[in-house]
Amino acid sequence: MKILVINTGSSSLKYQLIDILNEEVLAKGLCDRIGIDNSFIKHTKAGSDAVVIEKDMINHKVAIKQVLDVLTDKKIGVISEMSEIAAVGHRVVHGGEKFHDSVIIDDDVMKTLKECIELAPLHNPPNIVGIEACQHIMPGTPMVAVFDTAFHQTMPRHAYLYALPYDIYEKYGVRKYGFHGTSHKYVAHRAAAMLGKSVDAVNIVTCHLGNGASVCAIRKGKSVETSMGFTPLAGLAMGTRSGTIDPAVIPILMEKEKMSIKEINDFLNKKSGVLGISGVSSDFRDIEAAADSGNERAALAIDIFCYRVKKYIGEYAAVMDGVDAVVFTAGIGENNPLVRKKVLSGMDYMGIEIDWDKNSIIGKELDISAPNSKVRTLVIPTNEELAIARETLKLLK
Ligand code: AMP
Repeated sequence: MKILVINTGSSSLKYQLIDILNEEVLAKGLCDRIGIDNSFIKHTKAGSDAVVIEKDMINHKVAIKQVLDVLTDKKIGVISEMSEIAAVGHRVVHGGEKFHDSVIIDDDVMKTLKECIELAPLHNPPNIVGIEACQHIMPGTPMVAVFDTAFHQTMPRHAYLYALPYDIYEKYGVRKYGFHGTSHKYVAHRAAAMLGKSVDAVNIVTCHLGNGASVCAIRKGKSVETSMGFTPLAGLAMGTRSGTIDPAVIPILMEKEKMSIKEINDFLNKKSGVLGISGVSSDFRDIEAAADSGNERAALAIDIFCYRVKKYIGEYAAVMDGVDAVVFTAGIGENNPLVRKKVLSGMDYMGIEIDWDKNSIIGKELDISAPNSKVRTLVIPTNEELAIARETLKLLK
């Protein structure tokens, strides 16, 4: 049974076709620069090199059509006709308070998704456009929405409410929602399996450290706290996002730097984080190279990033009255031993002891704890596409 997983951004669309019975990726790719000039599709059939095809894609509907064309192409395709796709799983960023789990998409769900645009004006519109494009081209194929926020809907009120007048929550839904839920849930289940325990029997802190980054406290399989907030801007310092700052800084910036609301949003989301501190790049590979050649601000950016991750691990161990495992995942978490070392050094007092040789692992699943460590520290590559395909299968059943 083949499931197409779609992840739509404002000008891009990532896809994977997964044979869900053996969890094998048959093909994957990216349509980029949709609606802009020089758009192209990069398609990789399993076991073959990537093929890049330049193709005008004026909107997401044309992009989806292009994806189906390459998937059914005689040479680079992997299926003979579109009807072989049993269902489509869509990543949707924001499900508000309405969606606690993945859902089969119908008219009511579409209506509710549109109501959630207000909460995620940057993220949800492209997701909705992607769903509508698929519905148009593949009528009759079941579609499932898998939300970044759904996993965190188990947070208790005292964790998700901000200390603002209560009517602001009631009027506008202003509260912590949290993101990266699909990834946090996936690695938590994987971690429990590595520990040989049921996920209901363990407390885990998962650190999803990529260009966007968040930490999650998962008590007995349920998210009870996470570092992102009403939007993905809160929490850790990220590639280009500031993470949490004192909100009083915002009016000062607006006044002194004469910034509009849009400019301040761009400033905090696109020009801050490790890019803003280092002045070098948002990519940790570039920042680490710069730090190695003596750039002090690059070294400082790494220190600020790691310091915050460490603080959240301590905080979330306190939130859960103890922790059994800490998980590192996503681009930096999986591939950057220096970041893991800076975060994990000196945590022996709380039972986190590391085998520093094992910490050199890159991009593979491994328990990097010292043999007698009370808390296990695990590196686990995330796989959001597989998680979305599994959720889609679950709902089809
Ligand atoms: P993500 O958003 O999960 O793709 O993560 C992006 C971040 O992960 C960037 O800062 C990269 O420097 C880092 N990253 C991704 N792949 C690697 C790799 N193979 N080696 C080192 N760092 C990596």
